[in-house]
Amino acid sequence: MAALHELTVAELAAQLRAREISAVEVARHFLARAKSHQSLGAYLAVDEEVTLAQARAADQRIAAGEAAPLLGVPLAHKDIFVTRDFPSTAGSKMLDGYRSPFDATVVARLAQAGAVSLGKLNCDEFAMGSSNENSAYRMARNPWDPQRIPGGSSGGSAVAVAARLAPAATGTDTGGSIRQPASFCGITGIKPTYGRASRYGMVAFASSLDQAGPMARTAEDCALLLSAMCGPDPDRDSTSLDVPAEDFARSLNESLEGLRIGVPREFFGAGLAPDVRAAIDAALQEYRRLGASLVEISLPRTELSIPVYYIIAPAEASSNLSRYDGVKFGHRAKQYGDLGDMYQKTRAEGFGDEVKRRIMVGTYVLSHGYYDAYYLQAQKIRRMIADDFQQAFKSCDVIAGPAAPTVAWKLGEKADDPVANYLADIYTLPGSLAGLPGMSVPCGFGDGGMPVGLQLIGNYFGEAKLLNVAHRLQQVTDFHSRIPVAADAAPEVRS
Ligand code: GLN
Repeated sequence: MAALHELTVAELAAQLRAREISAVEVARHFLARAKSHQSLGAYLAVDEEVTLAQARAADQRIAAGEAAPLLGVPLAHKDIFVTRDFPSTAGSKMLDGYRSPFDATVVARLAQAGAVSLGKLNCDEFAMGSSNENSAYRMARNPWDPQRIPGGSSGGSAVAVAARLAPAATGTDTGGSIRQPASFCGITGIKPTYGRASRYGMVAFASSLDQAGPMARTAEDCALLLSAMCGPDPDRDSTSLDVPAEDFARSLNESLEGLRIGVPREFFGAGLAPDVRAAIDAALQEYRRLGASLVEISLPRTELSIPVYYIIAPAEASSNLSRYDGVKFGHRAKQYGDLGDMYQKTRAEGFGDEVKRRIMVGTYVLSHGYYDAYYLQAQKIRRMIADDFQQAFKSCDVIAGPAAPTVAWKLGEKADDPVANYLADIYTLPGSLAGLPGMSVPCGFGDGGMPVGLQLIGNYFGEAKLLNVAHRLQQVTDFHSRIPVAADAAPEVRS
C-alpha cells in the first residue's frame, strides 16, 4: 500500500470517504513529515492541536455521512492568507505574531469543503520576490536540490507539495508567484482569471493583479481545490466576479483532438535557456501526438510587460502598505519621539529591503510630475498587452510556452540583484497584466536534474480547458509523479 504522503488529493478524499483511513491519521502523518523535514523551510507555523482538532471534526462529519468534496484532506496555506487559528505574517517582521480575527474567504471556503489546515507556508515578504529569499523568517530550499531556491513568492507552498509535506497548498500569484515556483519545484499550479477567487483576507500586494490559486501535484487535484476556492464574494471583495463557482474537473478527460495551441514567438527568444527550451519543445510535440495543432502567434509587447509590471505593482504596493503604520496592528517601534518619528522607525524596522525598494519606486511613479510619464503610460501599455492576447486568441484556444527562462537558480545567486530577479518574470507577467488564467505543468527536467514547467495560458474563464489540457499531458507523462530526493532524505515518522 502506498504511504499516505504518496496519495493525491483525489485518492486521499476517496479513501477518507470510504473510511479506509481517518482524517486524524492522515493529519498526524503529514504533521510528522513537516517536523522531520524542517530543514527545507516550507512551514512558518504549525500547531498540532489546532490541526488535530480540525481533523477530528472532519472525522465526525464523515461519520455523520456528509459528502463535502475535500472532507478530511489536509492542506496548508501560503502565509499571505489570514487565518484565525494560526498566526499570519505575510513573511514579514511587520506582522510578526499577528493573529487575524477572521479567516480569508479562500481559507474559509476550503474549510467548508472539508479541508484540514496543516499550517502556514513560507513566502517572500508581502509576496514580493521570485526566490523566497525575501522571507523575513527563513530560507526555503528546493527539494530537488537544497542548494537552490524553490522559486517565489509562493516558495513554501511549492516546497511543501513537492516534498510531500502537504498533499496540496494554496498560493497567490500577482506576477507569477504560483506558476514560477510550481515550475521550479516540479508541481502543478493554476492562477485563475482575475476576480474568480476572493481577495478578502489575502494580504494585499498589488490589488489589480493579486489572485489566489491552488498548487498540487496533479491538474486533477488543482481542479478539485479550485472548485472549492472560487465564487463571488460581493460584500467583501468588490473585484470578485459575479460568476458562480464551477466544477473545474468536469472536462479533465476531454480529447485534445483539434485543439489549437498558440506558441508565442516572443517566449522563445535569446533569453530562454536551451535546457528549458528542449523540455518545452518535447511537451509541444507530445501535444501534437495527442491531436492538437501548434500555431505560431505573436505577443509583441512581451518585453514591455517587465517595466509595466514593475511600475504598476509597486505603485499599488506603496498604497496598500501604507496601512502598516504601527497604529492599529503589526509592529510598532519601541522607542520614538513624535508621531512622525513613530511611523518612520516602525516602517524602517518592520519592512525588509525589497519591500522598501518597492514602496520607494511606487511612491515615485505616483508622484506629481511623474505620474503621467510612468504610471499612466504603464496603464495604457497594460491595456495593449491585454488586447494582444485577444488578437492571439483569434487563432488559438490556449497558449503554451515556458513558465520561466531557466530552471531554479542557486541560493544567493541573484539575491543582491533585484533587476535579475525581475527579468526572470518575463513569461508570467504578460498573462498577469491581462488578468488571464495561467498554469504551470511539469514537463521535464533541465540542467542539474531540475524540473521544468510548461506554462499554459487560457482566455478569460478558460480554467476548465487549461486543466483539461494539463491533465491529458499528465496521463501520458510521469514528470508530475517523480519524487525529489529531499522528500525522503529526512527520517520519516509513521503515525
Ligand atoms: N516575482 C514577482 C514579484 O516579485 C511576482 C510576485 C508575485 O506574483 N507575488 O513581484
